[in-house]
Amino acid sequence: MITNSEDRFKKIIAHCKEYGFIFQSSEIYDGLSAVYDYGQNGVELKNNIRDYWWKSMVQYHENIIGLDAAIFMHPDVWKASGHVDAFNDPLIDNKDSKKRYRADVLIEDHLAKLDEKIAKEVARAAERFGDSFDEQMFCQTNPRVQANRKKIEEINARFVPAMEQGLLGELKALIEELEIACPVSGSRNWTDVRQFNLMFSTQMGSASDGASLVYLRPETAQGIFVNYLNVQKTGRKKLPFGIAQVGKAFRNEIVARQFIFRMREFEQMEMQYFIRPGQENEWFDYWKDMRMRWHLSLGIPQEMFRMHEHDKLAHYAKAAVDIEFMFPFGFKEIEGVHSRTDYDLGAHQKVSGKKLQYFDPDINESYVPYVVETSIGLDRMFLAVISHALKEETLEDGSQRMVMNISPALAPVKVAVLPLVKKDGLPEKGREIFDKLKYDFHCQYEEKDAIGRRYRRQDAIGTPYCITIDHESLENDTVTIRKRDTMQQERIPTDKIASVVRKRIEIKPL
Ligand code: ATP
Repeated sequence: MITNSEDRFKKIIAHCKEYGFIFQSSEIYDGLSAVYDYGQNGVELKNNIRDYWWKSMVQYHENIIGLDAAIFMHPDVWKASGHVDAFNDPLIDNKDSKKRYRADVLIEDHLAKLDEKIAKEVARAAERFGDSFDEQMFCQTNPRVQANRKKIEEINARFVPAMEQGLLGELKALIEELEIACPVSGSRNWTDVRQFNLMFSTQMGSASDGASLVYLRPETAQGIFVNYLNVQKTGRKKLPFGIAQVGKAFRNEIVARQFIFRMREFEQMEMQYFIRPGQENEWFDYWKDMRMRWHLSLGIPQEMFRMHEHDKLAHYAKAAVDIEFMFPFGFKEIEGVHSRTDYDLGAHQKVSGKKLQYFDPDINESYVPYVVETSIGLDRMFLAVISHALKEETLEDGSQRMVMNISPALAPVKVAVLPLVKKDGLPEKGREIFDKLKYDFHCQYEEKDAIGRRYRRQDAIGTPYCITIDHESLENDTVTIRKRDTMQQERIPTDKIASVVRKRIEIKPL
């Protein structure tokens, strides 16, 4: 059965293709699993998200500077970082459907269902009791909530150590005892759980000169760690300071069935903040707050996000929180904020034999800095923006329109210039306006089809403004400017277009 959210997700995917946002990679060869290409509108939107992130991190923070490290790194980097030994996911196959799953995700989904049951119980009671509802008291006394909380605790008491210690038999036992069935075949006929390393590897150099194994980086962070002293010294930075980077990362994901949510080649926007040991809790809280504010500054409402504290920590982390977004398939991680201690710099210092210490003039001491990082997937952010913005509206006259209520700052095209008809000198006037505006904004000129259809096409890609040139434009040098969201039109002098548009496409600094 197709639920509404599944239906909605399919519509988003179809829309992305129809309007040149995202194409399946190598589509004419039937595609390559979990790899995608960004089309003409997709690349603009992706660039705009990246630019806004970069501005918010590097330009708005005097003590954060940028870096662009290579994708290939010395193979020892990945030994030191722990990725060779520990960047694994536990996989399990269903023998009937032949579908492959992450064992931890099957268990996490089961836990999420129990959470949902509790939330539903609370919502029902809140409705029943109205203003006098005391949620804490209700949760402490309601037997069904209590029973589900107990189940969650019992599962976590086994699940967390099983993940931390790589106890694959225990994960299988949990899946069997919880009677988790394959969503496709419905059966519980599972294979054993096996560890699977997510790094892609290839050979560098030709076989004759002794090629060596290199990895495609699974995260951008390590490029920052190994360059930290170069940047600190040449940038003459005092702690605390940050290094920001955007770049491709590669993971041989086991399950890749959620469009651009989980890709094998994707882009990360990461920032590592180097601090004095002992200050990590303060900076962890600061960056959690700062990153949430960044998301909200794009006009996406607070209720679409939630913070999820990690019980089960990655091999490098002391504390970690996920910022989760309400995707069409539920709340899922969009960004991680991690307190990484001196794990990475300490490990690189040990394996490389090079000192990575910082001399702190304020306390006259040398130490290996601690790190708090923020790590967001550019593609996941893209999916979040699109899936929140895309709406199907029924207009007053009963007709339908697809509109993307995207933040004007992110819109792929800022202004569409549209002569009302393709004659009487209107196209020439339109071109004249377009040729002036194109130096300020990404604009589109369109004269084909009825004006209503052209408006619809622009609505569907999120263009905040349509400029229409009519006969009056030739008489008094004015145009109508149409706003995407309200569809209201206003007549303004042509020399005011740029300032009106500029005002709306700015995002207020955090
Ligand atoms: P998940 O638990 O979903 O696999 P993760 O915890 O492994 O994600 P991190 O290693 O913290 O992810 O990576 C930071 C960010 O990079 C994530 O929040 C996500 O936005 C993005 N990301 C990670 N893996 C992928 C992927 N396969 N495809 C797209 N984006 C990804």
